[in-house]
Amino acid sequence: MINRFKSNNLYEEAKKVLPGGVNSPVRAFRSVNGSPIFFEKGSGSHTWDADGNEYIDFCCSWGPLILGHAHAGVLGKVSDVMSRGTSFGAPSKYETELAKLIADNHRYIEKIRFVNSGTEAAMSAIRLARGYTGKNKVVKFEGCYHGHVDSLMVKAGSGLATLGTSTSAGIPEGFVKETIVLPLNDKDAVRAAVKEFGHDIACIAIEPIPANNGLLLQDKEFLLFLREICDQTGILLFFDEVISGFRVSFEGASGYYGIKPDMVAFGKIIGGGFPVGAYASSAKVMDCVSPDGPVYQAGTLSGNPVAMAAGIAQLEECLKPGFYESLASKADSFVNRIQSHADSKGYPFHMFNVGSIFWLSFSNKNRVRSADEIAPDGPELFKVFFDSIIEKGVYVGPSSYEVGFISQAHTEEDLSKAANAIIEALDVTYAK
Ligand SMILES: *Cc1c(COP(=O)(O)O)cnc(C)c1O
Repeated sequence: MINRFKSNNLYEEAKKVLPGGVNSPVRAFRSVNGSPIFFEKGSGSHTWDADGNEYIDFCCSWGPLILGHAHAGVLGKVSDVMSRGTSFGAPSKYETELAKLIADNHRYIEKIRFVNSGTEAAMSAIRLARGYTGKNKVVKFEGCYHGHVDSLMVKAGSGLATLGTSTSAGIPEGFVKETIVLPLNDKDAVRAAVKEFGHDIACIAIEPIPANNGLLLQDKEFLLFLREICDQTGILLFFDEVISGFRVSFEGASGYYGIKPDMVAFGKIIGGGFPVGAYASSAKVMDCVSPDGPVYQAGTLSGNPVAMAAGIAQLEECLKPGFYESLASKADSFVNRIQSHADSKGYPFHMFNVGSIFWLSFSNKNRVRSADEIAPDGPELFKVFFDSIIEKGVYVGPSSYEVGFISQAHTEEDLSKAANAIIEALDVTYAK
């Protein structure tokens, strides 16, 4: 067993003053054995914990670090900008620079508003959709996550096209009664909901590449169908690209599939490792946001120069020719190597990936399109797998529902070592 003495002590201290010892629940290792690992250092694809153990990191801060940890270009730009002050509560040129960088390289975006997290981006986009259309209801899909927005923390009630019920204490039923929750990849459910409530639906919100509850890749045809039904009804199509934006291509899933959303939310990669979110759309829609329009939304630290600088430095790297092709080809061969082993042993296991996002699915289904298709025994098998993989110096998010990320910093050598470790951990998992 690797030594986690210092991590365990830090966790005991943390629990005294932080609920569950953490500031975000999935960090608390509740889905796996043991207690959280406290990190001290990251460089490229590697991290080091408080006890000095080294890992090849596939969590990448849950996606933001597409260049890896402590990227020299990002750090250089950040320290340069930061040395002249961290925030003014007034505009600086960096906001415009980052906005232009995105608008100039994303065919579906004209204007953008920066906020501080993905949650805030989704919440504000929903408000804008309602303000712009004058309609109240929002369609969301079971298995998609849009941050901890009150009205989006909802699961389906009973029956087709019913209104949702909240998934967290502290959310009045009244807050979620305008949310309609539907199964993913199901055209009939969307048709039925639009038929019944269409006159009052402001937007259809979806992660076009759902990656917060496993990786539930949608048929492109389903996304095209959403585009079509929105065109027919005037409902706005809202792509939550907080995880897929700048990840599967610079233009995210919208560019990857070539489908135009009416509104997009960003987070994660956009801030270069700093807390940044954004929502974006056509100028016509965005001009409804205050101060130009009636939809109020504000932020004390929004667009602060340090976070903007990090975003600029990171996205400039992403724009270099071949960036996404190289990530995807590394990821494909990594995944193929692991899958071939699992297949040769006959393990009921499937590793999914789209570009540099991957998911370890502990089931032999090679199509998982909706939340209810996920195998129920995944979490138990994942516990065994996780214990084994951590011991081998490979870090992945501590839950079977989380995806992993490959960054530019992952070398062929890292990936070869990590693939071997994953293969050995699968052997342990399926030997039980
Ligand atoms: C991570 C994520 C969010 C929430 O972003 P936070 O920065 O954690 O608030 C929202 N939507 C999607 C699709 C995400 O992946």
